[in-house]
Amino acid sequence: MEPSTQRLVFKAGEEIFAEDDAPTTAFLIEAGRVVVSTIQHGERRELGELAAGALLGEMAVIDSAPRSASAHAMCDCVLIAIDRNQFAERLAAADPVVRALLMSQLTRYRSALATLTGDVREHTLTTSPDDAGAIDKIRLESELRGALERDELEVRLQPLLHIASNRVAGYEALVRWQHPQRGQVSPNEFIRLAEETSLIIPVGDYVLARVCDMLAELRKRGREPLPFIALNVSARQLDDPTLVDRMLAQLEARGLPPDRLEVEITESLVFNQAQIAALLERCHAAGMLVALDDFGTGYSNLGPVLSLDFDRIKLDQGFTRAIHTPRGFALVSAITAMVKALGCEMIAEGVEQAEQLEALRQLGCDYAQGWLVGKPVSLREVLDGA
Ligand code: C2E
Ligand code: MG
Ligand code: MG
Repeated sequence: MEPSTQRLVFKAGEEIFAEDDAPTTAFLIEAGRVVVSTIQHGERRELGELAAGALLGEMAVIDSAPRSASAHAMCDCVLIAIDRNQFAERLAAADPVVRALLMSQLTRYRSALATLTGDVREHTLTTSPDDAGAIDKIRLESELRGALERDELEVRLQPLLHIASNRVAGYEALVRWQHPQRGQVSPNEFIRLAEETSLIIPVGDYVLARVCDMLAELRKRGREPLPFIALNVSARQLDDPTLVDRMLAQLEARGLPPDRLEVEITESLVFNQAQIAALLERCHAAGMLVALDDFGTGYSNLGPVLSLDFDRIKLDQGFTRAIHTPRGFALVSAITAMVKALGCEMIAEGVEQAEQLEALRQLGCDYAQGWLVGKPVSLREVLDGA
């Protein structure tokens, strides 16, 4: 076996796992064929063959029992290792009835296997078209784990213009994944995927560490005043009670002032108001700012604005796009007045045209973010003044 991060190569005849092995990992067969066999009455019996697209060794990972069969490569094979948490967390979150059905089938299969005397017909299992989407997700998720280990995620910075002074006061950190085959995968796609399991935690930690590195580098290069960087956090990260402590630890390790890190929480995540209130309190006590992202798109509910003291409110780009229409202008004008009356700062997202910026300036909006001000770029481009 030649180990690379998640892709494993087995030569023809090589053992992949053996009976009674501990169930450490399952596999997705990417290329080749695998034979599964067991010893019955002192004789080795083939239970079946698996081809590309099939899962292998998933049973033992699901019920944590030792392997009940052995698997060997029939020809040179490429397998993707699937972390047991990818299954465990989904099973834990699944409909309990579905979980019970699965477990009962698994138990039945294991007892049948134990009593069989070798009359199992050879057959080849492949993925049904219905499973293809799920299999692709599993593959992408495994690749994302590998990408994280190989530092293949890139964090870009998009400038935020302080409108009154016409200066870039800060940046929003936006993560990118340059996939070797799929090209650039949008964060809208892979962040959602990462959120389905706790993979979002290491992804979030990775972005946080890069953001703190970037702040340290900007300071080292003498950027005065030091710009702030806004970091997007997602639902599972908010569930993590150590989130703020880990942010502060990263800042402290580099001697950075906490007020240079801003947390962005998208509006649709603000359904657990007590949780967000606690986060705001922790952030404010440490001196960090918190922004409400994509305002006006989530549940379009003013409850959070009423009871939670966000420092900044980011108006979703859909409203900026409509600012040239009488209704759009009226709405942005009213929202700006409300935000200012609450003592918050307002950021308009998706500013692409000079006329939009002019209208926002007239209305007293504090910050503008969008292609007119600048696209998300690498730290190098920021330092080179791009
Ligand atoms: P967001 O936080 O609302 O980020 C703004 C999105 O609007 C970014 O898309 C940005 O590239 C795009 N954008 C900025 N200016 C313009 C403009 O003038 N016109 C248009 N049409 N689009 C503009 P991106 O980078 O694809 O990110 C999408 C979403 O993915 C983000 O929305 C955010 O919710 C999420 N995301 C990105 N990075 C991270 C991350 O590190 N962690 C988490 N949890 N989520 C992230
Ligand atoms: Mg954001
Ligand atoms: Mg946004």
